[in-house]
Amino acid sequence: MSFKRLGLMLPLAEWAETMGYSEPTPIQEKAIPQALVGRDIIGCAQTGTGKTAAFVLPTLQRITRSKVIKALIVTPTRELATQIEEVVCSCAGYTNHRAMAVYGGVPYAPQARKVRRGIDVLVATPGRLLDMMRRGDVDLSAIEIFILDEADRMLDMGFLPDVKRIIKALPQKRQSMLFSATVSPRVLDVINGTLNEPLYVEVGRPATPVKAIKQAIYPVNAMQKHDLLVELLKRRGLDRVIVFTRTKRRADFLSRVLSRRGVTATIMHSDRSQSQRQAALAGFKSGRFRVLVATDIVSRGIDVDGISHVINFDIPSNPEDYVHRIGRTARASADGIAISFLSNEEIGNLRDIESLIGHRIKREQLTGFEYTGQFVPNQNRTANVATKVAYDGGARRGMKRRAKRR
Ligand code: AMP
Repeated sequence: MSFKRLGLMLPLAEWAETMGYSEPTPIQEKAIPQALVGRDIIGCAQTGTGKTAAFVLPTLQRITRSKVIKALIVTPTRELATQIEEVVCSCAGYTNHRAMAVYGGVPYAPQARKVRRGIDVLVATPGRLLDMMRRGDVDLSAIEIFILDEADRMLDMGFLPDVKRIIKALPQKRQSMLFSATVSPRVLDVINGTLNEPLYVEVGRPATPVKAIKQAIYPVNAMQKHDLLVELLKRRGLDRVIVFTRTKRRADFLSRVLSRRGVTATIMHSDRSQSQRQAALAGFKSGRFRVLVATDIVSRGIDVDGISHVINFDIPSNPEDYVHRIGRTARASADGIAISFLSNEEIGNLRDIESLIGHRIKREQLTGFEYTGQFVPNQNRTANVATKVAYDGGARRGMKRRAKRR
């Protein structure tokens, strides 16, 4: 049993086997043995690498069952909190620990009642946790293990002061683990001085998309994106597809268009309530909806197995979002396909992405689709000669905009 080899006790190794994990992923291989002996860890790993199990398994092995909170996992979004909760609770079924997640957007009282009844592991988003600390509904004085998940995301979302306040409330003597897709000095600052000779574990190049993902660019006139998407979904019989748009309004509109054209679709963005988001994710997971239309705010939080395609209806202006978006497919070992629709206006954004990932993405066309308008889709054109495309006003505008930003 390969997980036992890492030093994990039998019930936890059995859990991994039941989950169908035949071998530890690289982050698990590196982090688990060290975490088991109590070492502090900085893990540079994206979602999709198996990092959740990498911190959950050793945590459950190290803490005793006592119904007082011994381990605290802080993560930026509700979606991530519930996903981690799923993993912890399923693992805890093998060790008889009690675990739960607390997060905002849902009634406070039931969560507080459950916490007061006694748990061993608490998963929390910063806001709700601070609320509970203020109201005296949570006692962090017995924490032995503290895990900060998606630290870079936490900073992007402005949680730095909250996280600092939480860390201050923890016992000084504890094991800490920090996980982040990127580990910049800014990220390290969050926990500066609180780690004890941490082991630095990095898997893959953080900004490089998972190798298993086949990427393609579909150049298209902006006005034809809806038609191209519907055609693509229908012709290839795609289901379990996440489609990313640039804005919430575009997500709402697109989902309406898809539904009108007979493609079941649901939406996920930050204006949706917690229960709407949960219903969307559940409906998507169960196959009730073929398409999940989402914006970037949730791109890191979605963990659904078997997503074959990620389609970027709009190219993201932040190149790192591209990496996070396409990471929703090809989770763990499955292969995935990422298709990005490129209109003339977005050529500048694509150039930024290609320079981040270090290679040019192949241009493709949907054969038989009637491309119209000024756009001349050309498979051989590189992003570097984008200014020679028939209509390039948008591209030049994009370049100017970026030049100004710099
Ligand atoms: P994470 O990076 O924690 O979000 O995990 C991403 C996905 O990988 C989840 O769907 C896990 O169930 C899966 N996973 C975690 N560990 C393994 C493993 N050792 N082998 C195969 N899949 C795994």
